[in-house]
Amino acid sequence: MSKHNPFKIAQAQLDAAAERLGLDEATHEMLRWPMREIHVTFPVRMDDGSVKVFHGFRVQYNNSRGPTKGGIRFHPAETVDTVRALAAWMTWKTAVVDIPLGGAKGGVICDPHKLSNSELERLSRGYIRAIGTALLGLEKDVPAPDVYTTPQIMAWMMDEFSTMQGWNEFGMITGKPLPLGGSKGRGDATARGGMYTLREAAKVLGMELKDAPTAIQGYGNAGYFAHVLGSEMFGLKVVAVSDSKGGIYNPKGLDYKAVMAHKKETGSVINFPGADNITNEELLELDVPVLVPAALEDVITDENAGRIKAKVIVELANGPTTPEADLILHDKGAYVIPDFLANAGGVTVSYFEMVQNAYDYYWDLETVHERLDKKMTAAFHAVHEMAQKEGVHNRLAAYMVAVARVAEAMKLRGWV
Ligand code: GLU
Repeated sequence: MSKHNPFKIAQAQLDAAAERLGLDEATHEMLRWPMREIHVTFPVRMDDGSVKVFHGFRVQYNNSRGPTKGGIRFHPAETVDTVRALAAWMTWKTAVVDIPLGGAKGGVICDPHKLSNSELERLSRGYIRAIGTALLGLEKDVPAPDVYTTPQIMAWMMDEFSTMQGWNEFGMITGKPLPLGGSKGRGDATARGGMYTLREAAKVLGMELKDAPTAIQGYGNAGYFAHVLGSEMFGLKVVAVSDSKGGIYNPKGLDYKAVMAHKKETGSVINFPGADNITNEELLELDVPVLVPAALEDVITDENAGRIKAKVIVELANGPTTPEADLILHDKGAYVIPDFLANAGGVTVSYFEMVQNAYDYYWDLETVHERLDKKMTAAFHAVHEMAQKEGVHNRLAAYMVAVARVAEAMKLRGWV
């Protein structure tokens, strides 16, 4: 999916934190690699009667703090190294918000846009059967939605797994629809968590968010809800948004209801009436104070980082910025809210979903929002304070907070 190998990037990021924290060799080496990974190859019956064979992965990176946790992506350009990197980032994500879970990630190489609904269902069930009950389960490894996977897909996966077990195991997966043990507030949780961190960043920077021109890359679950919540919570003026087909720009601002209606009707945000079409690359370089990368990894690199003008970058995507770009942005004085902090709201509400499933008692929306806010705000300040104290950029600070917590758990367990 990316030009740069994301797993190499994840390892390099860890190495910098390990050095700074003075980690011993065994702890460092354990954290450089997934504890366990599985490649699966499985058949799916297509609607025309033919059989297509698909390849998938599940990487369980580290479970020292609890069962491994992380989404499943359906993407044509998925690779094991992308999944490894994402599994590592999940480990740091659950640690930075201090929830009792480890990190994992899954992926299937497929183009879901080319599958019918029933093919998608058989693919989802086939993937769960291929990974199997030995590796998945609520005390072992708990998947969730990610790029191009949905609550409906989670429901099929839960149903397949429950059939395999012989009992209902709702808590084996999160991001489920509400009638099947989903949590209120899970749908927009990633974006909401990111907005809480943006609110805190604006406080420490003394920045006004009302009417602040904002560009959002990506219009899926993270990007779309960033548009909705950024507008509703702070009155951000979202002037540019994009999806995989391209972007749109209107300096007067874009209305999220109208943009979503247009995307539903035409399949993309592009050609939105009254806005100019721009490329995804141009969107990143717009002269706006707030930039929200909410699509895929590897979009801010040493090639374009020098041209980025945003003061605050809220990384709702996983891995949007390369290590070289991090240094360039830091030198320019940009304030980056790094991915595994900014987008930790999704997994935090997933954790709330697991808790609710475990005692079969469901919270109201206000409770979810309040508890999410508390987690995100505490995590933001832990990272901000570390960055100030150590004089490092925010990503390295976030790594230092998270890695220290994982290392401590491994030590207490007697692993290292
Ligand atoms: N896929 C989301 C992430 O990257 C959520 C994971 C989860 O809820 O387990 O954080």
